[in-house]
Amino acid sequence: MKNKTYDIIVIGGGPSGMMAAGRAGELGAKVLLIEKNDRLGKKLSITGGRRCNITNAEFDNRIFLDNFPESKQFLFSPFSQFNVESTFEFFQGRGLPLIVEDRKRAFPKSEKAEDVCNVLIDYVEESFNVDVQLSTSVKSFIVEEGEIKGVHTPSGDFFAKKFVLATGGLAAPETGSTGEGLSMLATIGHAVKDPDPNLAPLKTNTKWVHGLSGASVDDMTLRYLQDGKIKLKVRGRLLFTHFGISGPLVINSAHEVKKLLKTGALIASVDLFPDDDFGSLDKRLLDLFETQKNKQLKTAMKELLQKKLSETVLRLVDESIVDVPVHSVTKDQRKLLVRTMKDLQFPITGTMGFEWSIVADGGVDPKEVDFKTMRSRLFSNLYLIGDTIDINRPSGGFSLQLCWTMGWIAGSDAAE
Ligand SMILES: Cc1cc2nc3c(=O)[nH]c(=O)nc-3n(C[C@H](O)[C@H](O)[C@H](O)COP(=O)(O)OP(=O)(O)OC[C@H]3O[C@@H](n4cnc5c(N)ncnc54)[C@H](O)[C@@H]3O)c2cc1C
Repeated sequence: MKNKTYDIIVIGGGPSGMMAAGRAGELGAKVLLIEKNDRLGKKLSITGGRRCNITNAEFDNRIFLDNFPESKQFLFSPFSQFNVESTFEFFQGRGLPLIVEDRKRAFPKSEKAEDVCNVLIDYVEESFNVDVQLSTSVKSFIVEEGEIKGVHTPSGDFFAKKFVLATGGLAAPETGSTGEGLSMLATIGHAVKDPDPNLAPLKTNTKWVHGLSGASVDDMTLRYLQDGKIKLKVRGRLLFTHFGISGPLVINSAHEVKKLLKTGALIASVDLFPDDDFGSLDKRLLDLFETQKNKQLKTAMKELLQKKLSETVLRLVDESIVDVPVHSVTKDQRKLLVRTMKDLQFPITGTMGFEWSIVADGGVDPKEVDFKTMRSRLFSNLYLIGDTIDINRPSGGFSLQLCWTMGWIAGSDAAE
């Protein structure tokens, strides 16, 4: 294979790279797919808790693209070529039925991310036009007279007419996306924003929050406060962890939280009873206390909150009331209990690192990519796809949909 010249070299065998290589091979181009791991799709196979949230089943392009507020204008053109419906057709047409769950999240019916991976590996292999070179890390581009001619790897140099860079961002670096692709782009003159974890859980240094690890609240309101003002408010499920808080809601607010942390200290305030105002929650407590008069307060409170959480809340109100009988709770203590349950505060100190993040902010500035073809605006024979491009989006299948769309378009255009 050494020194053979290809039509196209695809660097990175993740979802976007496999889609690009498979598509180009299907159209008859001679392709080399280079992957540094000893297998393709390592990150893909752990997505969605190994079930792979393959896309988001919103079939209206406009509504779908509302989830990309900062990059929507770039994405209309690619989505007019390959959209969510195309993804359904692609995978279902290849024998992988999809199911749709809450928040329109689509998964393979088999609930196995590995099956998604196998569909793509088959796609790469079926045309016999794609050579796959595993365990090979591309180190740099070979650029001559302003044009990319080849790539350097420890196994030798490889040459092609066109190149597709699909090396991913920095999230979950243990799966292979360690950022060399972005350094290579910066070296040849692309504007690359430093990666930063996004879609990541949040940290606090407050010990009682760490102590709640494993507890969850199905429906609460989480407000982020700065200088006493509400900067962001979200509602849904919250998970407490040994470092802070997590869950889709928290993960999806990480991007905004990072921006806020740059401007000052940030406090999280959790309202455990978002449907009750102070008065109605106080009334609920009074009713509860009336029926459970002689019980220990901590036992009675289990009617309202999970044990771990209720005991923590009681300790925050007053260490001494945890074990007292309900009838000895004073009015002031009860009122303070209501206030605490509606405004459980702790500081947010940052996001967890790349190893905890689902995607990373940063990468190539989208302005440097022609989204009609996915070509670099600096090098006409270079294509940039997937997480290498700096596009902020929520969790819910949106990241992989970008990979399918961009991979398909780059593969089609490069094979022309
Ligand atoms: C735990 C987790 C769960 C996720 N779940 C979901 C989900 O359910 N739904 C969803 O939409 N998104 C999910 N994501 C995000 C999604 O996985 C990514 O957006 C997607 O994998 C990006 O694909 P990619 O092709 O751009 O890059 P990657 O998947 O990162 O693949 C890049 C590939 O390039 C290879 N590579 C890197 N550098 C080189 C080099 N120098 N030479 C050769 N090869 C190289 C890497 O080894 C890697 O295989 C999840 C992410 C994580 C971390």
